[in-house]
Amino acid sequence: MTNIAFKQAHSGNYRRAARGKEDIHYLVIHFTANDGDTAKNNADYFARAEISTSAHYFVDENEVWQSVRDADIAWHCGTRGVYFHPYCRNANSIGIELCSRKNGEKFYFMPETVRRAQALTRELMAKYGIPLENVVRHYDVTHKNCPAPFVESASAWTAFKQGLQKKEEPDMTEAEVKKIIESTRRTYNSVSAVPAWAKPTVEKLTRKGWLLGDEHGKLDLTEELLRTLVINDRAGIYGE
Ligand SMILES: [Zn+2]
Repeated sequence: MTNIAFKQAHSGNYRRAARGKEDIHYLVIHFTANDGDTAKNNADYFARAEISTSAHYFVDENEVWQSVRDADIAWHCGTRGVYFHPYCRNANSIGIELCSRKNGEKFYFMPETVRRAQALTRELMAKYGIPLENVVRHYDVTHKNCPAPFVESASAWTAFKQGLQKKEEPDMTEAEVKKIIESTRRTYNSVSAVPAWAKPTVEKLTRKGWLLGDEHGKLDLTEELLRTLVINDRAGIYGE
């Protein structure tokens, strides 16, 4: 579970409500449009300044800070202009801001910020029963260039969403991967080494001089080959 710090936003930045699971249907992804700000910076700022905007969560590469409770309505994707999404509004959504960085004129996210935002998003999807298609960009609601890195790169947004489908399981360790590769490559080099189910067949073939192995007598039999030999033997191909 993501560790979340909390600092209540200024009361002029959001609307108090009593929303529950039946009211929250969308997760809206934003960026802070800053260069190297932190989640805590944002929580502090929205607590201090009355600016009539807000978001529920701020994510950076180290932390998540919550500024507005899920039950309350944050002002993050409203517009006096045109809505491009038929349903998603402040009242039925949760806003998640990713802290950004800037390279020249181009905004980007640190990989760890993206991973942390994905973990938080997955948890909120599970908590409120929100399907993947209801995780949207601010852009999808109002056509604002937000979050710029996911608006300017459609593939980055696709990758972000694909990451939400993955279960939160640790990757396999190097040793586990090695073990799997070794087991698929495993070969049997002597009659005594082959498994019991294949032993009579291998004994027969070596007795008849049909199975000789390499110059050192190593048989180098894969499991797959053993199966083929045993099937042939059962079919009577190798005689008695
Ligand atoms: Zn936004």
